[in-house]
Amino acid sequence: MSETTNYDVIVIGAGPGGYVAAIRAAQLGLKTACVDAFIGKEGKPALGGTCLNIGCIPSKALLDSSRQFHNLTHAFKDHGISADNARMDVPAMIARKDKIVKQFTGGISSLFKANKANPVTAIAGFATLKPGKVVSIKGHDGSVAEISAKNIILAPGSSPIELPFAKFDNQLILDNAGALDIESVPARLGVIGSGVIGLELGSVWRRLGSEVVILEALPEFLAAVDPDIAKAAAREFKKQGLDIKLGAKVSKTEIKGKQVVVTYTDASGEQTLTVDKLLVSVGRRAATGGLLAEGTGVQLDERGRVIVDEHCATGAEGVWAIGDCVRGPMLAHKASEEGIAVAELIAGLPGHVNLDTVPWVIYTEPEIAWVGKTEKELKDAGIPYKSGSFPFAAIGRAVAMGEPAGLVKILAHAETDRILGVHMCGANVSELIHEAVVAMEFHGSAEDLARICHAHPTLSEAVHEAALAVDKRAIHKAN
Ligand code: FAD
Ligand code: NAD
Repeated sequence: MSETTNYDVIVIGAGPGGYVAAIRAAQLGLKTACVDAFIGKEGKPALGGTCLNIGCIPSKALLDSSRQFHNLTHAFKDHGISADNARMDVPAMIARKDKIVKQFTGGISSLFKANKANPVTAIAGFATLKPGKVVSIKGHDGSVAEISAKNIILAPGSSPIELPFAKFDNQLILDNAGALDIESVPARLGVIGSGVIGLELGSVWRRLGSEVVILEALPEFLAAVDPDIAKAAAREFKKQGLDIKLGAKVSKTEIKGKQVVVTYTDASGEQTLTVDKLLVSVGRRAATGGLLAEGTGVQLDERGRVIVDEHCATGAEGVWAIGDCVRGPMLAHKASEEGIAVAELIAGLPGHVNLDTVPWVIYTEPEIAWVGKTEKELKDAGIPYKSGSFPFAAIGRAVAMGEPAGLVKILAHAETDRILGVHMCGANVSELIHEAVVAMEFHGSAEDLARICHAHPTLSEAVHEAALAVDKRAIHKAN
């Protein structure tokens, strides 16, 4: 590597934060390089970060394959469709997932070149920021090069938290990457952590026939989610056979032959659980190890995250940080929006991300989605609110689709009626939530949603009815 060029912008990390920032910077005429260390499944550098390689996209590919199989074996008979001897070809499912990943990671290389007048320079290797906005890059062949820029955007993302008593080997004890590449359906899958990854990937293997046992340390299920939504989802997960054990504190794991014996303590005392694979999904931490040399002026907080202000500025002149390595939710779309905002700020334009309207989605069945505040947050903040909810069981389209589970719940300010939070559980709520996001971005009220004509029959009628219910005037249920 003999790169010496100076850039306007160097982005460290090519995940949805970094690659989007790089594309936007190049669109704005800034000479941009994007350095990324990730090595894909084929042993070659791959752009796209966690999201495209071992996160959002591959997990959704497996969720969709497993959903199709589950519907074929469980739901289609209600529609009068029968298919005997349905079988799941797991290697074919994994190959489909890998093909999708390759399509999207390869697509970023093309997007980097798409702006012919000012393409993004992609550089493979591990980057360390040094004082003076110099970036030292260790190539995968061991070579070292230095480049510099007027602006640096740190976007190194995050990596899974490892428990000291359950070290990842990605054969028996798996992180998110390992759980996306299991070659055959394990008879019993253990999961530590009933958060987003545990529920999504646990659902994949449950639908394919695994017995799935999820051990969650907290006594409450989905503590960050609205309790009515969490309760409705828990009911459905139980019906699906996901065995979620709350208040289960794991203290030890032991490999015995081709199985893992997990020791945990719950209200009944010490228990053991023997599993064929164990997924550990207890959260992620900022991937800032080795990112910063001495003297850059960039500060990390107690959790290893880069400290930034509301505009993603680190306080060191010309150094910015975005995505999973900074405060706020660890979500791909939040990372991308921050990437765009920072590129625009560097170019002298206004750029801002409203963290209050970043939507969350958990892609289980039913899906869970929310935006804004929960009732607990409103109570804790002393904000007066009113609430309206509506079940999908009373929505014609949901019943016709065989998807009656779940509800929509809207929280609005008690005096101004402004929408403060919207919480959903049900089919396709990953799409429905955006009606709420738009309404909140425009400072809309529950009355605004209630007065908008929604097509019939659609799932979005549940949003309309929930908005009417805020004022106790839902039509298709008692208020
Ligand atoms: P990343 O995507 O982690 O990318 C960072 C990149 O920087 C990586 O390629 C890394 O190798 C590279 N890098 C790190 N350090 C250096 C360095 N020093 N030098 C060079 N390169 C470096 N979010 C959603 O919004 N929706 C979902 O459905 C969703 N599903 C997920 C499923 C799973 C299984 C997982 C694990 C995560 C999921 N997420 C999802 C979270 C999402 O993947 C992250 O929020 C998102 O990828 C963060 O983007 P980022 O750009 O900050 O970092
Ligand atoms: P998480 O924070 O969502 O959930 C971790 C769970 O593990 C929590 O319920 C926590 O109480 C529990 N836990 C922690 N330590 C434990 C222990 N020792 N024993 C038992 N339980 C323990 O973390 P995750 O599932 O690893 O996902 C990480 C992040 O990745 C998510 O928070 C999210 O930001 C992102 N992600 C998003 C999506 C999506 O948007 N659909 C999907 C996957 C991941």
